[in-house]
Amino acid sequence: MSAHLNAPQREAIRYLDGPCLVLAGAGSGKTRVITQKIAHLVETCDFSPSNIAAITFTNKAAKEMQERVGGLLGGGKAKGLTVCTFHALGVRMVRQEAKHCGLKPQFSILDAADANQIIADIVADADRAYARSLQWVISGWKNAMIPPEEAVKLANDDVSAAAAKVYGEYERTLRAYQAVDFDDLIGLPVRLLEENDEVRERWQNRLRYLLIDEYQDTNRAQYRLLRQLSGVRGAFTAVGDDDQAIYAWRGADVENLNLLQTDYPRLKVIKLEQNYRSSARILGAANTLIANNEKLFEKKLWSEHGPGEPIRVVASRDPEAEAQLVAMRIQAHRFEFKTKFSDYAILYRGNHQARLFEKQLRNNKIPYVISGGQSFFDKAEIRDLISYLRLMVNGDDDLAFIRAITTPRRGVGAGTIEALGRYAGQRHVSLFEAAFEEGAAHHLNARQLESVQEFGQFINKLAHRAERESAAQVLEALLHEINYEGWLLGSFDTREAETKWSNVRDFVEWLGSKGEKDGKSLLELTQTIALISMLDKNDEEFDGVQLATLHASKGLEFKHVFLIGVEEGLLPHQSALDEGNLAEERRLMYVGITRAQRSLTVTWCERRKAGPDVRVCEASRFIGEMGEGVAVAKKNDAPVSQDEGRERLANLRALLGSKS
Ligand code: ATP
Ligand code: MG
Repeated sequence: MSAHLNAPQREAIRYLDGPCLVLAGAGSGKTRVITQKIAHLVETCDFSPSNIAAITFTNKAAKEMQERVGGLLGGGKAKGLTVCTFHALGVRMVRQEAKHCGLKPQFSILDAADANQIIADIVADADRAYARSLQWVISGWKNAMIPPEEAVKLANDDVSAAAAKVYGEYERTLRAYQAVDFDDLIGLPVRLLEENDEVRERWQNRLRYLLIDEYQDTNRAQYRLLRQLSGVRGAFTAVGDDDQAIYAWRGADVENLNLLQTDYPRLKVIKLEQNYRSSARILGAANTLIANNEKLFEKKLWSEHGPGEPIRVVASRDPEAEAQLVAMRIQAHRFEFKTKFSDYAILYRGNHQARLFEKQLRNNKIPYVISGGQSFFDKAEIRDLISYLRLMVNGDDDLAFIRAITTPRRGVGAGTIEALGRYAGQRHVSLFEAAFEEGAAHHLNARQLESVQEFGQFINKLAHRAERESAAQVLEALLHEINYEGWLLGSFDTREAETKWSNVRDFVEWLGSKGEKDGKSLLELTQTIALISMLDKNDEEFDGVQLATLHASKGLEFKHVFLIGVEEGLLPHQSALDEGNLAEERRLMYVGITRAQRSLTVTWCERRKAGPDVRVCEASRFIGEMGEGVAVAKKNDAPVSQDEGRERLANLRALLGSKS
């Protein structure tokens, strides 16, 4: 075992007599416990890596952990180890147990946009925003494992009543398409394991030890999956921090921490108290801030690191000035200290805040990577191509059928699809199949029928090629046959078309490298893509400043952090203020602060555009809650003298105090 472990970490790693929970604050080495414990299980306890599964919150975290464990064990000894997200594990389980789930192994995975489309189609005339609110409610039920029949009884307002009406039909549509949504990737395995003894035993035997990172952000369905997989032995280690629970809005439930204690009376709880990440000032500010939240569990956190640089708080005139300031700071700091770009992170509450910063960074020739934003895989041109791939793999995927057959246009209009859809509905088959049924001729005219059959044959031909050729080769052939580049040039202005085409080229390359490196089939690739679009897209090694939402920054660390837009209404967010949900916003701020190792700069704007108006903003109350360790700077300026700083801080406090 590595020497760089403290006593409680070592205890957590060696403990194997039952379920184990490591409950500890940010930067205390929880994730390190997981990687080291995997190595310990393999090296000292003779576990086969293929019997171990580690669950991370993002694909990116999974990749990092896999590499780290690979490094610890060396010589390919980590082969067969499962390190992935709950959803990726779900995909694997549903694929292998497809027949028990009433699915074929080539099922499609629909992302949020697809699911939204289905709901909008069910509720005729629903606009996207309304469909989204229904989708939200349905997803909440699915995360809580509440089936449609029960949802009807639970609905207690207009929106949830409408959602309950749609829910059953939504589920039937998914099954008709041989498709699952993200929630199903957890829900289906749970149901299967709970109901089928043979399947449960098989998986319990396969995964003999589970390790779960970021446990505080699991939802109820994920908890049940953990419970089923780990069985009566309770062979798992979960690590988490209730102060970093920031996904309640997506169905995560901190109650899961309490559940562990009640469901597993033998649960071993281990606390870690030394923080290895941040300088003392940063840690102090984080501790002081979070002390304002009601405590679920008492935790202490101390650091051996020196006080480090003062935390800066800087006010800017407006967001342009704020972005400019940060870009200049990074440049100056880099010049002085010879750092890498990737030592810096700019973190914010909402994706929309990134745009101005991107612009400023580009203007200053500062390379950057952005995560948690619009996915590469969400771009229209990429979705177009993915719909072809999905259809090749799963002919029942009607959504993919409709998108592919109409992009580029091939003389198939809405009338044709509606007629085909009606007939498919009568026959209870997919659009694809309906096109080749004899009766189709009674519903479509000769020209329509010819177009859809030609399309179907085209897809079949590609699917055949996919059996022999790599996914990238098939995609090349597809692009050529449908003259996608020509279609882009004819449909968009030249610059836009060129950008889109260059994205397409990137996609071909990505598909090629994935297929080669990981030896993945087209089926596996299409199912992987759906998951990538969930949270994390950037997996390339690249020296750039990291731009990320606070939510996406979880678990990461950076030498120098800029927390931007720290204003009332943004952080805490107005919607949270309206709902009186201040605690989760404070945890978000806590997550942001604790990403920083050496320096932390908090910025806010005095004015900000809000629609056509300009709003006067106030510094976030959270700045005041960070305590004494912060140096308040003059507008866009270096830190002020200590006295002046104290005075400004006092003013700020008075201002904040008068509000509460
Ligand atoms: P978070 O709550 O943000 O996810 P964490 O508790 O998972 O944080 P880690 O990321 O595991 O913390 O560790 C934080 C930093 O401290 C990492 O750089 C890690 O390598 C380092 N570290 C962890 N344990 C030790 C130790 N015993 N000695 C030295 N460094 C350590
Ligand atoms: Mg961690």
